[in-house]
Amino acid sequence: MEKRVLVVEDERTIADAVAARLRAEGFLVEVAGDGPGAVAAARRTPPDAIVLDVMLPGFDGLEVCRRIQAERAVPILMLTARDDETDLLVGLAVGADDYMVKPFSMRELAARVHALLRRAAKGAAGPVGPPTLRFGDLEINQAERRVLRAGVEARLTPTEFDLLVHLAAHPRTVLPRERLLADVWGWADASGTRTVDSHIKGLRRKLGSDLIRTVHGVGYALEVER
Ligand code: CA
Repeated sequence: MEKRVLVVEDERTIADAVAARLRAEGFLVEVAGDGPGAVAAARRTPPDAIVLDVMLPGFDGLEVCRRIQAERAVPILMLTARDDETDLLVGLAVGADDYMVKPFSMRELAARVHALLRRAAKGAAGPVGPPTLRFGDLEINQAERRVLRAGVEARLTPTEFDLLVHLAAHPRTVLPRERLLADVWGWADASGTRTVDSHIKGLRRKLGSDLIRTVHGVGYALEVER
């Protein structure tokens, strides 16, 4: 079945170009030009993925992300005007899965949307390996996609969850950022390793800073009992 993508962007030329490219890729595309319109459109016809600009009239993309994700988990690719660390971290914290900095190529945008949907489909297809992984006070329930630390549930985004499961599949093993990027995000090139770093920050914020070890210049390891 055709996948629905909601494009939220107030700059008409960008919105039109993104919509045209995604339609050419076979997606059903709806466009919203402001914050309230985006939330209303997502309620009316739930999309399979959202391409969301941060700077919008009404309320901004971060607020759109917060409101939509509070109702239902949807993969979100956020667009930012500049490589702004604050925007980026807040965006990932409120539930965006990936981001691109303007200007971007339409080819790359299409590739990222495909990767988001592939990952969502993989998640929906159910767990690989044991349904529940337990390490000390960390519990990862793959069937329900829920994570608890010391009995308290952490609300992870779909990407954060997939990243944690990947690290948990190889406990105490250093996984290179490039490999995480390829396995979790489905990217073939290593241009987005900062995305990995940002999601690791999100996991540490939600699950505690002691869980994931940084090996500088290489990657990350989940520091748990085997
Ligand atoms: Ca804008």
